[in-house]
Amino acid sequence: MQSVVKNLKIYNSISGKKEIFSSVIDNHVGMYVCGPTVYSNVHLGNLRTFTSFDIIYRYLTHLGYKVRYVRNITDVGHLENDEDQGEDRISKKARLENLEPMEVVQKYTYDFHETVRKFNLLPPSIEPTATGHILDQIKLIKKIIDEGIGYEVNGSVYFDVFEYNKSNNYGILSKRNLEDLIHNTRSLDGQSDKKNPQDFALWKKAEPKHIMKWDSPWSEGFPGWHIECTAMSNKYLGDIFDIHGGGIDLKFPHHECEIAQSNVCFGTNAANYWVHANMLTLNGQKMSKSTENNILPDEIFSSGSPLLSKTFSEPTVKFFMLQAHYRSILDLSDNALLASEKGFNKIIDAINMLENLKSYSDKTSDFDVEKWIKGCYDAMNDDFNTPILIANIFEAVKFINKIKAGSAKISEKDYKMLSETMDSFVFDVMGLKKTNALQKGNDKLDDVIDIILELRNDARKNKDFSLSDKIRDMLNKKGISINDSDKNSSYTID
Ligand code: AMP
Ligand code: ZN
Repeated sequence: MQSVVKNLKIYNSISGKKEIFSSVIDNHVGMYVCGPTVYSNVHLGNLRTFTSFDIIYRYLTHLGYKVRYVRNITDVGHLENDEDQGEDRISKKARLENLEPMEVVQKYTYDFHETVRKFNLLPPSIEPTATGHILDQIKLIKKIIDEGIGYEVNGSVYFDVFEYNKSNNYGILSKRNLEDLIHNTRSLDGQSDKKNPQDFALWKKAEPKHIMKWDSPWSEGFPGWHIECTAMSNKYLGDIFDIHGGGIDLKFPHHECEIAQSNVCFGTNAANYWVHANMLTLNGQKMSKSTENNILPDEIFSSGSPLLSKTFSEPTVKFFMLQAHYRSILDLSDNALLASEKGFNKIIDAINMLENLKSYSDKTSDFDVEKWIKGCYDAMNDDFNTPILIANIFEAVKFINKIKAGSAKISEKDYKMLSETMDSFVFDVMGLKKTNALQKGNDKLDDVIDIILELRNDARKNKDFSLSDKIRDMLNKKGISINDSDKNSSYTID
């Protein structure tokens, strides 16, 4: 393991500070990330969070840690609001679309896997499902009741937040204090069996029409939202593990409740480092499935969106995300994506150029490559600061362009180090990909576009300008520009 490991700092949401990272077991890391709720297609916001943790996973692995990365699939038990009321979202979708709940789950799990694969995110080591761990959840609920913190009313079981708070700190993560919560929570006007509105459900008795339900000591029902992650993270990573992550919107109530459950069951906060990725916004508003303020990956990559002037490749969108730190809010816009596309292409052009550059065994370099490498590690060791890493990479791009122009030189030794480090950080750590299906010079693509151009020329000859303009505009939307001259038409790919 490299010595830089000792310098890795991670921002811990519990302490509100960057802390030196030290793992529970030497050279090993256990990381749990809350996965998707599979009742609709993943949107780009979800993808940003999973990308943030993919980078963390990749960098820890790059440093030499053996990482067990657990990311669950929430396929049951996610009620529509935080007050444990409303319908289970998966059951609702099943009812609306006249499908079996497991058909809904299968369809969107498949979509999720397809999308993360296209985005070049590494699969987790274990991907457990909530429905596959109902017995584990029941076991923990029993324990919480035995400890005097869980209580049963009419077949449902709730976590007594006030009882817990007598000897623990409910609010340790979100910094909310129970008194303020009482003040700000609306009363449930007798609609609930809970002792207090702040209590949260561990098990809910199912209404007769509820589709997804299981036997339990209390009723035929289904688990509350928070218990699944406590059950699955504990099963695969133990009573105390290293990193627990998710989007910042999960900090409260989900992660606060997970910490409370874990303290009752195992006497720990579950993880030593609680890490939260910030939101992707669209028009300044959080991208979200339920408000429909979102762009789906397919719209941005292939079918197009009315909000964008063209489509963008997966690596461009990923590069756009990595230009912001994972703890900053990031707003998606056409202009920002266009700028990222230019930047990303510059880096790839430089890497391609680097392959054919001349280096010298008898000359010193006009660039301090060792200092540059240290800069790359310093950036990532400072709470995975990808924007600083990218700024550093652009310094190397400048140098590569100078070598190409003949105004700078590089030694053989530095050339090897520079090439290897560029590849490691761009491809292995950031998980960007060179391949772009739309590459000019690809024979099949050239043939297909020539056919389209010939048909368009026929339309022009026949003075059917509305058709020829339509073809031009449609290609343009896909990032292919047509350049007409008197004699013929050619194309370029943006
Ligand atoms: P969900 O499927 O809604 O449970 O969300 C899956 C993950 O995506 C969670 O970690 C959420 O916090 C995260 N997430 C949801 N919306 C956004 C967003 N607009 N930007 C970034 N992450 C998000
Ligand atoms: Zn979770």
